[in-house]
Amino acid sequence: MLWAFLGIDIGGTNTKVAFMRRPGRVLHQFAVASETFVGPRRFVSRLGRIIREKCGDLGLRVEGVGIGAPGHVDFRRGILRDSPNLPGWKNVPLKSLFFRQFRTKILLDNDANIAAWGAFVLELKRRPQQMVLITLGTGVGGGLIFGGKIYHGINGSAGEIGHMRLVPRGALCSCGGRGCLEAYAGSYGLLRRARELKAGRASRLVIMDPRALHLAARRGDKICIKVWKEAGEMLGRAIVNLSYVLNPEYVLLSGGVAQAGALLLEPARRVMRQNAFAGPLKPVKIRVARRPNSGALGAALAAMENA
Ligand SMILES: [Zn+2]
Repeated sequence: MLWAFLGIDIGGTNTKVAFMRRPGRVLHQFAVASETFVGPRRFVSRLGRIIREKCGDLGLRVEGVGIGAPGHVDFRRGILRDSPNLPGWKNVPLKSLFFRQFRTKILLDNDANIAAWGAFVLELKRRPQQMVLITLGTGVGGGLIFGGKIYHGINGSAGEIGHMRLVPRGALCSCGGRGCLEAYAGSYGLLRRARELKAGRASRLVIMDPRALHLAARRGDKICIKVWKEAGEMLGRAIVNLSYVLNPEYVLLSGGVAQAGALLLEPARRVMRQNAFAGPLKPVKIRVARRPNSGALGAALAAMENA
């Protein structure tokens, strides 16, 4: 029987699970369909049963659990307040529900904070003390590591980088606000802009996802290049503001949209260079995270930290 830390990354579609041993050796990873429509209690008991069976097969015993959940998490009390990705899940005591399954120490945090912790440990080997993670997926999220720890803010809401207001009366965001970074650099924002620019033009190109937008731009499609340029400039504007306030050493970018690489980063860096007040911007290193999905591993690492 081997002791292992368990990491769980709850997503709207899939839930990813990882088992890890110190000092960060991955023993096993798998994913299951979330089926969150059954409600949180049945979701947790079903997932608990699947994981216990897996532990039996692999000869593992769970020594601590870390969980990343999408949405507003009260991490001190272990409650998921609400989540745009998990309809109907409100004020769910996830920490105590999971405790009943595993009878060990449980840590619950927002999924972007957990991803930031994973990136901090796996990509940066805990060296820099200041790091900002920006997750560029359908939505845009973020996590802040300061002094080698996750910075949560007063109620766990710190790091909502996607909802930084960049444009007065700008594009509509999923949060109900206007002009947020997410409305330009999240995949729905990018695709909306591509449709706007293509409207009325003769084009056989149908852009369905950021990857198609990325490939079309690489093939020289002028409209797609323009869409990435605009998104990169918004990202650059956001990084400038973050850098003036936080002065981080690293800004890591993760998620599907970040895979566009230079298409996004070159315009972002150009915006950064255009600022005369350069002192806080100079030391900032911008990188695309090598591991696009470190959520479950980050959760297992957070459990290890919590032990
Ligand atoms: Zn917003």
